[in-house]
Amino acid sequence: MSSTIKNELHYGLRSLIRENAFARSFVKRLRQNERLAPDAVRQQGRHALHRTLQAAIARLPAYRHIDARFSPAEAETVLRESFPVIDKVTLLGRPAEFYPREGRKLPWQAVGKTSGTTGTPLQILRSMESVLMENAFIRRHWEWSGYDDSSTRATLRGDMVVALDRRTPPFWFWNRYDRQLLLSSRHLTDDCVDPIIDRIEQARPAILQAYPSTAHTLSMYLARRGRSLKIPFIYTASEPLYPHQRELIVERLGARIMDMYGMAERVAFATECEHGEMHINSDYSHVEILDEHDRPTDGPGFIVGTTYHNLAMPLVRYRLSDRTRWKPGQCRCGRPFPMIEHVTGKYEDAITSADGSIISPSVLTFAFKGVENIRKSQVAQVAAGTWQIRVVPGPRFSDADKNRLVDNVHQLVDAHIAVEVVLKDDLPNTAAGKFRWVVNETRQAG
Ligand SMILES: [Zn+2]
Repeated sequence: MSSTIKNELHYGLRSLIRENAFARSFVKRLRQNERLAPDAVRQQGRHALHRTLQAAIARLPAYRHIDARFSPAEAETVLRESFPVIDKVTLLGRPAEFYPREGRKLPWQAVGKTSGTTGTPLQILRSMESVLMENAFIRRHWEWSGYDDSSTRATLRGDMVVALDRRTPPFWFWNRYDRQLLLSSRHLTDDCVDPIIDRIEQARPAILQAYPSTAHTLSMYLARRGRSLKIPFIYTASEPLYPHQRELIVERLGARIMDMYGMAERVAFATECEHGEMHINSDYSHVEILDEHDRPTDGPGFIVGTTYHNLAMPLVRYRLSDRTRWKPGQCRCGRPFPMIEHVTGKYEDAITSADGSIISPSVLTFAFKGVENIRKSQVAQVAAGTWQIRVVPGPRFSDADKNRLVDNVHQLVDAHIAVEVVLKDDLPNTAAGKFRWVVNETRQAG
């Protein structure tokens, strides 16, 4: 089947699912929430939290011992006093306790997969409602820029839009169901970028959805060519957005950046408003910021979230490896959602492709597509044009998995990079207790 026909089917169906009456009613409800007073949002949150905790106690063996007789007004206290903070290691190590039905999916549920920052694959069961809600939250954020059904959107993320080895345009697909121009980020190379720039210019999108690294790479090519684009809003997500990226993106794409913070576990969602502030969407989940001892802090701490919408697998007090802090005060935008400092990662860890351009960590996750039996992994740049994929293998890890990793890299990430898979007994964390999934050892040595 040609990739165009495949794309037509895929995006046509997806549009049907996303644009149904339920999805529309969710967006409408969310629109109303942002006009509520902060107290009303908190009140609503207690009811949502109560519903989640009741579901968790009823469905997950880990919480079966907790007394379910409490009211919505008591939900936050019960959460703090009876529910331990858990993380990815807890889920991987004790699946029988934290997954419903020991992780067996029901036919109407979806599965979310992440390799996240530790590189260890994790599966999350999702209810249909939570899948639709996720889209509704994203849609609400788009509307902060004035986006509506008649707007055109361009997308420059990890989608496989055309074959990697394609050398002549188009390097994009026009998804007419959504007025969406899907661009192939794998073709942001010296040979292929000019037609991509021209196509964006012609489409005049109201918003561009991108990874910080793909928007930044596009901006670097524009800078080298002395060109720029005029896209009103850039929606970045899925990776930390570094200040040097923000600066060049604003300069070359002529845009206001609306960064979005989320994760596959979907326990926290923060969105940047038109005044540059990151707002925790407090109708999405219950968010705490906790220090190393799991105590609430106004200083820097870990983001710990409890789902409101995915009762298929209620994640409660799930700690992420991302750190931030609360920002006091009220934003000029008037929305009732609290502010946090921007969540950022480490620029020094960025690694580069065979031709020297930066590869986004989100694209690197494609190397692990379909590869099971991995306990932990790390992708390291060990020399120019050379990567090492370090793997702590599970008991059933085989040569086939090893070959698949290498094939994935060459088919889905970079056809020309030299890559070696190295098996390890362990991959230790840094002194600060963090794990760098992507690490550039040439940069650090130099
Ligand atoms: Zn704001």
